[in-house]
Amino acid sequence: MADVTRKNMFHIPDGVIYLDGNSLGPLPKSVPEALGSVLQDEWGNLLIKGWNAAGWMEQPTRVGDTVGRLIGAAPGSVVMGDTLSIKVYQAVAAALKMRPGRKVILSDTGNFPTDLYMVEGLIRTLDQGYELRTVAPGDVTAAIDMDVAAVMLTEVDYRTGRMHDMGAVTRAAHDKGAVMIWDLAHSAGAIPVDLTAGGAEMAVGCTYKYLNGGPGAPAFIYVRPDLADTIDPALSGWLGHEQPFEFKLNYQPGAGIERMRVGTPPVLQMAALEFAMKAWEGVDMQDVRNASIALQEQFIAGVERAVPQLELVSPRNPARRGSQVSFRFEQGYAAMQALIHMDVIGDFRAPDIMRFGFTPLYLDAADVEIAVERIARVMHDRLWDDPKFKTRNRVT
Ligand SMILES: *Cc1c(COP(=O)(O)O)cnc(C)c1O
Repeated sequence: MADVTRKNMFHIPDGVIYLDGNSLGPLPKSVPEALGSVLQDEWGNLLIKGWNAAGWMEQPTRVGDTVGRLIGAAPGSVVMGDTLSIKVYQAVAAALKMRPGRKVILSDTGNFPTDLYMVEGLIRTLDQGYELRTVAPGDVTAAIDMDVAAVMLTEVDYRTGRMHDMGAVTRAAHDKGAVMIWDLAHSAGAIPVDLTAGGAEMAVGCTYKYLNGGPGAPAFIYVRPDLADTIDPALSGWLGHEQPFEFKLNYQPGAGIERMRVGTPPVLQMAALEFAMKAWEGVDMQDVRNASIALQEQFIAGVERAVPQLELVSPRNPARRGSQVSFRFEQGYAAMQALIHMDVIGDFRAPDIMRFGFTPLYLDAADVEIAVERIARVMHDRLWDDPKFKTRNRVT
């Protein structure tokens, strides 16, 4: 198995075992200095000239191509910008335009709430009788009928790590004439994805999780190349215009994926991401996947041996699981706080899920062994049973 570990490229605080790269990736060591030079040399010295001289204007598609390589998207089919919530809105709005007459957006009850909330908001704005239908994840394929305009799913369940079969669901959607939109928030940089082979019309995702772009890093949107010149952008901002600097009074969408841009890109944040993406150069996602599964299997076996009262809520079959493992424990919040206090960092998802992410670029078998030992200590010594671990923070 190819070794994908490149721990020395990341800043992991001394003694910390970081099992939350599925929520916020760590800082790549090269980023502070590189970003410092963007601040000084580009913003500082170039000022407004930076848009041309430093390539700020091309940054959203340039960085999009580096993300695209990890998700099987052809160059020129991915653009960066905004947040994932916004990209979900854009994708679903465009899909509805592609299927006039169909009124249902189908999703599942395992989806991340913001994806559903954004669709609710879009439906209220359109006010044309659209309906968001959510079914249990296992029932999605059977629920696709001729009323469904778009199927919008997150490939990997943020709580349990359960994975949809992207190929099978996409085929089922297409069989019924529906547009397929995948949210790759927990897929990009976590598991191999081949958008080109899968044939989905659109995909979206964020870059602060497995791609280590930093808190608030921009999102991405993919549009299948044969559709990119015809889809209708609901968020018709000036940088998606075919000629933004002609300052015409009416919107004309830009060529291809450019039309999914909205306004001024977050240049500094995107520069951080662009430097962070260098950690992926030469990395094969199948190698990452194999290493992730090995770490997850080691973790599950270790935790179940040491602490039988923790209930595995992730699929036991690694092929059906993304790059995270979740256990259920009714005092899960306090237990996670106690664990974080011992420098093993995972997170908690209501109501009772302890979630652990596996990121082989900077995590190895020795880390997993220590994590298992400390989980066992938290549970056996009831370290969670302490008032200081029971007060909920704003972010869990
Ligand atoms: C993390 C995540 C989000 C977050 O959306 P933001 O707009 O970036 O805050 C949305 N959807 C899914 C599926 C996620 O996992």
